[in-house]
Amino acid sequence: MSFAPLAQLTLHLRELEETGLRRFRRTTETPCQPHTVVDGEKLLAFNSNDYLGLAAHPLVVEALREGASLYGAGSGASHLISGHSQAHERLEEMLAMMISPFIPSVRALSLSTGYMANLAVLSALSGMAKDDITFFSDELNHASLIDGIRLTRAPYKVYRHADMEHLSQTLAACASAAKVVVTDGVFSMDGDIAPLPVLLKLCEQHGAWLLVDDAHGFGVLGNRGAGVLEHFNLRSEQLIYMGTLGKAAGVSGAFIAAHEHVIEWMVQRSRPYIYTTASAPALAHALLTSLRILRSDEGCRRRSHLHSLIHQLSSAPVPNAWKRMVSTTAIQPIVIGSNQAVLQASHDLISQGIWISAIRSPTVPVNTARLRITLSAAHTSTDVDRLVQALAPVVLA
Ligand SMILES: *Cc1c(COP(=O)(O)O)cnc(C)c1O
Repeated sequence: MSFAPLAQLTLHLRELEETGLRRFRRTTETPCQPHTVVDGEKLLAFNSNDYLGLAAHPLVVEALREGASLYGAGSGASHLISGHSQAHERLEEMLAMMISPFIPSVRALSLSTGYMANLAVLSALSGMAKDDITFFSDELNHASLIDGIRLTRAPYKVYRHADMEHLSQTLAACASAAKVVVTDGVFSMDGDIAPLPVLLKLCEQHGAWLLVDDAHGFGVLGNRGAGVLEHFNLRSEQLIYMGTLGKAAGVSGAFIAAHEHVIEWMVQRSRPYIYTTASAPALAHALLTSLRILRSDEGCRRRSHLHSLIHQLSSAPVPNAWKRMVSTTAIQPIVIGSNQAVLQASHDLISQGIWISAIRSPTVPVNTARLRITLSAAHTSTDVDRLVQALAPVVLA
């Protein structure tokens, strides 16, 4: 090989392999559901974010079919050109209605993915406050928030995880005219819930916006599934809410809900919103059905079943050498430590027919590699029993 950059790359890839950091994709052959077929093998999966079991719900699947016959396969253009369909419009109205108890004069904007929604809202916020803005970011925030902040090229401060004392000092020491505190609602790799009542109080004291990424709370937390703002019963015009629609809502996409002027500014100026093709209207149409279920009594039953599974798992023992994260949500990680040990544990579980993903750096800090167990309302308590039994010998080994 004589092309030096390629030789260098080959070396990097070998290094990933040797340090247990090479990632593999496994190919699923069934809809997203607990009992799945993966690369030809039957496995019981505990690794999706389909928390309510809506991804394969017959009514949602039927709505997607109906959406395709009503609107065709693709949107054909960006929202500002001709891609904004009636289905997108209705979806935004329904989302705004869901978040209206928590943010005055709220409006919602739908985007194709949560990753993009974070880039879009962060770049809009920085554009609003030209050159005099600082972001404050929890050290465990999701990659899309980190990347979104970097995209703005504005200064930012990282505060220690959920450390309100540290955040308070950092805010007090900052002279910027505009401040934005950015946090996950439910931390994606740890499962703990951000201390939002205190965060909001600090933001109100310091005149800061509070951007909450509720990818893992929307649909799951709150009596009617409106997410972490409903869970804490907060209300403020300083709140900016990001929810995703490919996790508990079971389909695809994301949204920003905020004061209507924030949303209008995004429509005018947010490049990640403007310069991309609108998602397929059929997806928005399917989401109308999934949100209807999520807010209904059926949604409440699914959430309460999920909570009983969370209780069942979190009261079962885990091996002494492992560290269970303190989590009351559907994300129940077990920290194992080294890359090799977590890969070994994940393989042992696969050999017992259980699929749990090994999460390693850089997704989580070095030496905190973990099994990220996620539960869904589609699991039965028998499924969770099987998981608990499978963990036992892994523990002793
Ligand atoms: C999954 C996730 C996202 C990205 O959402 P997608 O719709 O999958 O792009 C953003 N933030 C957090 C915390 C997430 O877990």
